[in-house]
Amino acid sequence: MLKDQLILRIPGPTPIPPSVNRALLQPMVGHRDRQVSERIKKLIPRLRPLFGTEKNDVLIVAGSGTSGLEAAAVNLTQEGEEVLVLVTGAFGDRFRKILEAYRLTVHAVETEWGEPVDPEQVKKALNSHPGVKVVFATHSETSTGVLNPIDQIAHVVHEHSDALIAVDGVSSIGGAEMRMDEWKIDLVVTGSQKALMLPPGLAFLAVSEKAWTKISNNPRPRFYLDLLKYKKSLGEDTVPFTPAVSHLFALDQSLSLIEEEGLQETLKRHLLMMKMTRAGIRAMGVPLLVAEERYSSPTVTAVIPDDFTPGAFRTVMSKEFNIVFASGQGHLKDRIFRIGHMGYCSPTDVLQYLGAMELALQKVGHEVTLGAGVAAAQEVYKR
Ligand SMILES: *Cc1c(COP(=O)(O)O)cnc(C)c1O
Repeated sequence: MLKDQLILRIPGPTPIPPSVNRALLQPMVGHRDRQVSERIKKLIPRLRPLFGTEKNDVLIVAGSGTSGLEAAAVNLTQEGEEVLVLVTGAFGDRFRKILEAYRLTVHAVETEWGEPVDPEQVKKALNSHPGVKVVFATHSETSTGVLNPIDQIAHVVHEHSDALIAVDGVSSIGGAEMRMDEWKIDLVVTGSQKALMLPPGLAFLAVSEKAWTKISNNPRPRFYLDLLKYKKSLGEDTVPFTPAVSHLFALDQSLSLIEEEGLQETLKRHLLMMKMTRAGIRAMGVPLLVAEERYSSPTVTAVIPDDFTPGAFRTVMSKEFNIVFASGQGHLKDRIFRIGHMGYCSPTDVLQYLGAMELALQKVGHEVTLGAGVAAAQEVYKR
């Protein structure tokens, strides 16, 4: 078997394009250097389209995606406030744990894992808890491959409350459509290692005017994740603490790749990869966790086999083909496997893993006609 080959098809971290890797290797510069300020100044307006915002601030924090979630929780809520969290899987659950850690009064709308949030349930929860000040939601729930209908959820939140809405877009930004301005989302968090084709290490927060009003008047103690510090620095084209300088070089390049392809084309490519993946796996006779395509994440697909163990299958995929899929999380850990198709991933890669999957399925005793999955995906591509 070929050594030093790793075909990473997990939902983050994701593979890094060669040009982004080269950007990471640029010699270090002082972080207060004019070069870095100029870079930051140019990066912010280029980040905005990914979030679907014309004017909102986009803050860059050195930290993993979770630091962005914690920043959202800490800055948007006051001591003891009532909040609503929408839990559709492990990442919604993480948001809930963060909110509980800050001793907020946490109400939750929970769905079965694999199901999206029903906006009607959000409406009910807001009517039963009129004191809710902020709603926390997940866009693409990476643990199940669900894409929650954030537009409809935001609509219900604004119709039935004055609450702010904050969204975890860690596995959606850059891979799924986000229209922050149009949908009136107050804060969107993302991370570097998912659809943005960067190494782990950066969190991004897009913040609305309405959110700033609350954040500016929020007496809650905070320091590293105090978003006001980042806003003030942004006005001076810098960041409050030493930034991950190399990651900024890389971000410049990954944004160039998205701009060269065209953001709309990038988003279409993700939808196409999702559709090809789903059609291919269906044709192999293996059940998908998310039943409906309209609630399927364009960046990650979860598969729930009924006649073989996901662990054994993943082992064949990695040992024989150097293709790495992810296990499930939480109670679905050993029941599902997940395929990441985001960022530096193309329809060609989809055909590659589907072809290898057919062989691996035969090894774990699942009957499949060779070529059936690939052919189904090819048909989707042709349409
Ligand atoms: C990956 C991910 C996170 C966590 O990001 P870390 O960088 O691991 O902290 C949060 N939310 C979602 C939806 C994710 O996919």
